[in-house]
Parts: sequence; structure tokens; C-alpha cells
Amino acid sequence: MGAWGFRSYRDLLAERFPGRRIRKLCLQAGFTCPNLDGTVARGGCAWCDNRGFAPGLATPTLEAQWERGRDALRRRHRRVDGFIAYLQSFSNTHAPLARLATLYARFPHDFPECLGLAIGTRPDCVPDAILDLIAATAQRTFTTLELGLQSDRDTVLERMNRGHTVAQFIDAVQRAATRRIELCAHVILGLPGEGLDAPERLGDLLAGLPVTSVKVHNLHVMRRTALDDLGCATPGRAAYLDACARLIGRLRPDQALQRVVADAPDAILASDGWCHDKQGALRELHGMLNPVPA
Ligand code: SF4
Repeated sequence: MGAWGFRSYRDLLAERFPGRRIRKLCLQAGFTCPNLDGTVARGGCAWCDNRGFAPGLATPTLEAQWERGRDALRRRHRRVDGFIAYLQSFSNTHAPLARLATLYARFPHDFPECLGLAIGTRPDCVPDAILDLIAATAQRTFTTLELGLQSDRDTVLERMNRGHTVAQFIDAVQRAATRRIELCAHVILGLPGEGLDAPERLGDLLAGLPVTSVKVHNLHVMRRTALDDLGCATPGRAAYLDACARLIGRLRPDQALQRVVADAPDAILASDGWCHDKQGALRELHGMLNPVPA
């Protein structure tokens, strides 16, 4: 267990890259999402803030994004010894295989100080041929596939217009694991209809799967999203941290937490802004996971 009372992503990276401080650098590679472009659905997940979604939207080159991202991370952190390129926006496997092969082949060599690649996508967007490509990429550089599960209940996923099922997530995880692809799972705590025991159920499900790391997202509501229209209640800080601690308590000790509190700017946040005090929330979570003996 690391300093926070759980194995953090920083702990995981420290093992993979001894003596170096590594940061993730977000890149937008110009993909769309099958849940927005009509392949699976239109409108997207209920929480999705997709105002920036426009197929073919011009984005700065990856090189320009890399330079800007490196400078920003170096300004924010005292020490940075390398970067993991993170293809985060939308679904970064939602394209013809040849386009993906050309893109993934650029990592790490085309980007100075790049030490690996993280690919964020949906579980319904990773056919075998794409997993084979990711497995081949992982032979060349440290590679993680990040798959969104969000809820372990199909009824919740359906209500949130997620466009895939829990079974599809499990199938994608198993097909990736047979190819020895390192996996990160994304889940949300606080979704309507998830049930009081959602943290334990989610933790047990993930602990039973070949998932190396987990990102937990506190449910918050962005302005002008479907969730905002639903008038959805979100967990306050105490309720969320309690749920988060219960989920973490069910994970395997080797599973690292990449994120436990997600923030959003006030300008787009419709729900309570307790998440702005991320460090305070982390300290409180640490206290819950490491109670002082009486
Ligand atoms: S999968 Fe991601 S990008 Fe696609 S609709 Fe859902 S939240 Fe938005």
C-alpha cells in the first residue's frame, strides 16, 4: 500500500520506471465516439459533455499538443522525468485499423520523452483485430488500454444511454487479457439506480477481473447535459468518500487507483463543487482507509 492507503498509479509507475517521475499527457487525436456519431446511438452517455464533439473538427497537431502539454506539466509539477501519452477524448479505437496502426506506430518515438501510451475507449469498440494491434504496440512501449464500465448494472447503463452492457465490458477485458494487454477500468459512483451496495459489487467485480488499475469518478453533473436535464442528485463529499473507501476495500492489493476524485470547472459544473478540494478529499479518504488505532 502506498502513501494514500491504497496502491496509487504513481506507485505502479514507480515500479515500471524506477527512479523516475512520470506524468500522463493528454492528446486529442481527432476521433469520434460510436455513442455520438450514430454507430451505436446519438446523444451520448447522459453525463457526456460533448459540446466539443464535431466530426472532423480541426485540432492542433499532436506535436503541438505534445509541446504544450509538456510545458504545462513542467510548470505544474516540480519534477517530471517522462510522459505517458494519453489518448483520452472520445473513443480512441473507433477508426479503421489502418488509421489506428499509423497513429499507434508513432509512440513513443515521435514524441520527445514519451515512455508509453494509454488508449481510452469503450468496451464495444475493441474487436479482436484492434486488440491484436494494441498487443503489438505493447511489445514496443508501455501500453495501457482504458475501458469504461461505469456501472455493473445494465439497467443503469441503459438509463444513462451508455450503449453497451456489462457483459460486453467483461468480454472485452477477457479478450484483452488473453493478449496480455494491461487494463484500466473506469467506474462512476453515485449513478441513479445503482443501489446502496454498488461500491461493494463494483469492487468485487473488478477484483475478479484481470484489471491492473481503476479510475473511480464521483458523479457530477455538467451544465446542459442529459443528466442536468434529468435533475439528477449527486453524492456529497462524505457520501462519495464513504462509497469510494468501500469500493477500494474490495479491490485486490495489486490493483492501482489511477483516480479517486475527479474535478470540473465551475463554469460547466451544475452540481456541488466539493470536488475542487481534491487534496482535502484525498486526505479525508486516507484517514478513512487508515484509521488511527484507539
Ligand atoms: S463514451 Fe465517452 S465520448 Fe462517448 S458518449 Fe460516452 S462519455 Fe461521451
